Parts: sequence; structure tokens; C-alpha cells
Amino acid sequence: MHIETLTPADPAWQAQALCAQTGADFFFPEPGSSVREAKRICGMCEMRPACLEYALANDERFGVWGGLSEKERLSLRRATR
Ligand code: SF4
Repeated sequence: MHIETLTPADPAWQAQALCAQTGADFFFPEPGSSVREAKRICGMCEMRPACLEYALANDERFGVWGGLSEKERLSLRRATR
């Protein structure tokens, strides 16, 4: 599948996610732990736009998605309402 045909609703993007190779630990840190490493990996991930859209569309509350923390996604949701 070509990358432009991927949509957030298409689970194929998850197969190309960089975090699928690194493991989920960085992306779901303990409360108060740093999300810096997760964000660094997201910054190199080609699936970032699809990932962020998916997280927003599905109201994912926990962890780092699309390079944004829980707080940042909440702010984004509030700003775009
Ligand atoms: S943007 Fe980050 S959380 Fe989303 S798929 Fe890529 S590495 Fe994983």
C-alpha cells in the first residue's frame, strides 16, 4: 500500500509505526516520567500525522501519540472545538 493512501482508520499505518519496533514502554511512561524519548521517536516516524489523527478521533487518553502527550492532545482538542 502506498503511504498516501493510508488513513487513520486504516490499521495498516500501525504496521509502519516506529514505536512498533521500539516497544510501547517509552510511549506509556509511568505518571510523572519523561516523554522526551517517545517524542524523539515520534519526530522520526512517517506515520505521525495518521497516528495523531487516530488518537484524536478515538479519544485516546493515555500515552504519547503522534508526538503529543496526553496534556498536549487535550489542549489541541480544546483549541479545535
Ligand atoms: S507518531 Fe509516535 S506514537 Fe505514533 S506511530 Fe509514530 S512513533 Fe508511534
